[in-house]
Amino acid sequence: MARRLTCPCGEMFREETDDELVEKVQAHLAAEHPDHQYSRDEILFISY
Ligand SMILES: [Zn+2]
Repeated sequence: MARRLTCPCGEMFREETDDELVEKVQAHLAAEHPDHQYSRDEILFISY
């Protein structure tokens, strides 16, 4: 099952594994939302 997450800014992520999703989302947050850093557990909690 792929993991999906939509950032509040509208960016959508769809990755095959939890690890890839966390990596992509954390890179996006660092680049676009430096004030909003989330841990791996938080990212997986809000993904679907
Ligand atoms: Zn975003």
